[in-house]
Amino acid sequence: MDFKEVKIPEGDLIGYKDGELIIGDHPVIGVMRGDGIGLDISPVMRNVVDTAVEKAYTRERAISWCPLYAGLEGLHHYGSEFPDETVEAIRYLRIAIKGPFTTPIGEETHVCLHCAHQQYKPGKCEACGKDDGVTERFRSINVRFRQHLDLFACVRPVRYFEGVPAPNKYADKVNFVIFRENTEDVYAGYDYENGSEMARAIIGLIKDKTGREIRADSGIGIKPISVFGTERIVRKALQWAQAQGLPSVTLVHKGNIMKFTEGSFAKWGYELAEKEFGDITISEKRLWDELDGKMPKGKILMKDRIADSIFQQIQTRPDEYSVFALPNLNGDYLSDAAIALVGGLGLGPGANMSDEVALFEATHGTAPKYTGQDKVNPGSLILSAVMMLNHMGWNEAAEMIISGMEQAIKDGHVTYDLARLMKREGREDVNEVSCSGFGEAIISRM
Ligand code: NAD
Repeated sequence: MDFKEVKIPEGDLIGYKDGELIIGDHPVIGVMRGDGIGLDISPVMRNVVDTAVEKAYTRERAISWCPLYAGLEGLHHYGSEFPDETVEAIRYLRIAIKGPFTTPIGEETHVCLHCAHQQYKPGKCEACGKDDGVTERFRSINVRFRQHLDLFACVRPVRYFEGVPAPNKYADKVNFVIFRENTEDVYAGYDYENGSEMARAIIGLIKDKTGREIRADSGIGIKPISVFGTERIVRKALQWAQAQGLPSVTLVHKGNIMKFTEGSFAKWGYELAEKEFGDITISEKRLWDELDGKMPKGKILMKDRIADSIFQQIQTRPDEYSVFALPNLNGDYLSDAAIALVGGLGLGPGANMSDEVALFEATHGTAPKYTGQDKVNPGSLILSAVMMLNHMGWNEAAEMIISGMEQAIKDGHVTYDLARLMKREGREDVNEVSCSGFGEAIISRM
């Protein structure tokens, strides 16, 4: 494939056949630096990953990084923060990892991609003074990647690292992966203002067809959940559980109230498990009805929980869960609540995936006030790279990074954000390190 700005390095292009990725020993992987502190955390992530891969496979394997450009770099290379070529290159390479991108949120017409300042004039940034980063306001780059590449699964692993102050007594038992559906439910929903033509028409239709009254001054929301959307997110969750050897997949829903959207999510999820993974899954019902609660070795337990109860259970019995699959809105709530259990968003990694393409990402923003200071915590991006290595089946390298990070945090060699929290908890041996220093602390403990 011909690209204008993207230079594909030597290495193995990732293939896809019969639902499986084909990954050589020198896979070409896309990397987008990101805006703001992306500048600081991206090179640290690459250094940690390259070292882990080298150590794990004694130089037989290596990642061939392919720089791709969006955000500020997109503006510099293509004159656009969201270049078509970058989207095509990710599709072509199949795996990419990215730092955070600026998203304009205010009313102003322009935004500076160096410092996220928003203003009404093009040209020079009124806050940082730079004249090569101001562009017209635009829609979220992250959302557009998801939509253009149909990345239907938002994947969030949540786990505890010893030494990180966490509010929950059982935080050390938290280790699960959340698969949140990314394209339907409230994301594909319609929301009609009260008194609008559509709201009045729907209220009238429901009255005509069912006889049920909805108050005339109600706003009306519609949330579609389809067989197609449900099956592909549950399939993804099951594939992950199978590949990583995890013991259960839990479908979370509010089917006691919404039988044909939320309830169907669980029903279709069980049916998919039976149909496509019948030889390796057992439903909780079958476990108790037929097997007296004795789980056969090597099988994946399929269970479902009502959404409100799962918010209790992740606090009281987190070790009973390893993979969750949820519709969009429940997944949104659960992802953030679960991360809070283990001490906040700082270290939380993430990815958005389709069957063929996976885009791994830091979950925090661009924190522009810290850009270029080698200060912030690169943990989120590094842990996203760990997910990426798991996705590639390079689990040995992934484990090395995890153990290096566990030990660095245990030893108190952490960046300012964690250092502050640990000191507040009364720890006296904390050694505050820089962004690159944290990378070195991980590497030296692999
Ligand atoms: P932010 O996450 O960038 O920063 C909030 C605060 O969190 C920072 O001031 C800093 O104190 C802390 N912080 C963030 N990342 C950190 C790290 N790695 N290490 C240590 N501390 C860290 O959120 P914001 O200030 O609301 O957003 C800034 C810009 O980032 C906005 O343009 C926003 O839209 C964008 N954003 C992008 C993403 C993404 O690309 N995934 C996510 C959130 C926000």
